[in-house]
Amino acid sequence: MASFRYRCTDCGRTYGRDEVRYLCPACGPAYHPGMPLVGVLEAVFDYDGIRAAFDRERPDWSLFCAVEPEFHPPLLVGSTPLARAGRLGSELGLDRLWVKNDGLNPSGSLKDRASFLVAAEARRLGIDLIVAASTGNAASALAAVCASSGQQALIFVPQTAPKAKLVQMVLYGARVVPVKGTYDDAFRLSLEYTDQRGGLNRNTAYHPLTIEGKKTAALEIWAQLGFQAPDAVVVSVGDGVILGGVHKGFVDLQRAGLIERLPRLIGVQAESSDAIHRYVQTGLYSDAANPVTRADSISVTCPSNAHGARRAVLESAGATLTVTDLEILEAQARLAARTGIFTEPAGATALAGLEKLQAGPGRLDPQARVVILATGHGLKDVEAPLSRISIPPAIEPVLEAVPR
Ligand SMILES: [Zn+2]
Repeated sequence: MASFRYRCTDCGRTYGRDEVRYLCPACGPAYHPGMPLVGVLEAVFDYDGIRAAFDRERPDWSLFCAVEPEFHPPLLVGSTPLARAGRLGSELGLDRLWVKNDGLNPSGSLKDRASFLVAAEARRLGIDLIVAASTGNAASALAAVCASSGQQALIFVPQTAPKAKLVQMVLYGARVVPVKGTYDDAFRLSLEYTDQRGGLNRNTAYHPLTIEGKKTAALEIWAQLGFQAPDAVVVSVGDGVILGGVHKGFVDLQRAGLIERLPRLIGVQAESSDAIHRYVQTGLYSDAANPVTRADSISVTCPSNAHGARRAVLESAGATLTVTDLEILEAQARLAARTGIFTEPAGATALAGLEKLQAGPGRLDPQARVVILATGHGLKDVEAPLSRISIPPAIEPVLEAVPR
């Protein structure tokens, strides 16, 4: 493991790893639930040390990891496939398109990466209880990781979370508390719980290691492309932490001198859940008033990492755009039919955005190396695609009844 310090992304103050736990002590007090987080901490590593020690022949990923391997839970997380998507790419005018299939993580989403690292940190600190608010995936992820490590997961979810995700959490043995309210309500309640009753809070971006966990997707993409950064990564955006995490991964590689320039980050939001998109466009933040979308994983009124996501888009010369639910569900079907990858609506939101981008003046160069991040498995929410497909009726079990 390389050594690191935390640095506040707002004021720039730095802290030793055990001097702080969540937000910057100087900026964090200005935060209250219902606004984007301020004082989010980032881990700043000894990049000269990484540069000297990293060997492409035998990559030691622990150099980029903020928690020592001895504390890691036994569940194997990450190392998901990067699939070449030739047919889809040619339809989009892109010769080099890949899909990073993070639905193949153990609980079926990229969130396993964040839960894994926070659970490791809890073990290092000797804390047994981990508390999270989630639209569903982060909670399933935490429940799965805790099941493997024997830790306790306490989870606040909106009562509207898809059934498959609730089933996962309960089966993994987590204590699940459905909340009559939104994700934002669950977020606030979980903060009150850890403030007053204890446990380690895994809320996304609130605990800085959620971003560190998610950055591993970027490190893997770099390695899977032959230790080269792509030109663009397309990511669906809810609270902006996956976007921020992917950006942090490439920033780490750049600071360590392992890549020259950052890939452009294309962030895609559902039309109704567009707070980050509008923030990037105008520089002024306001909540998404009514973030109702079939892509439940990215339905957020007040994105916790709005500031970090905006910085990631600007620093990478990226872009944001929004798509409708119909475009999302059509993209989900197209991705499945062209690549064999069944991703949930939130994962397909990235493809819907890329399709929209390629149809307009901002289209990417045909030779650009482009990666779509498919963030969660389609089986997590089969109700969503069922709204636009029909299952054929059953026939008598005789050959004559089979349509020719
Ligand atoms: Zn600060």
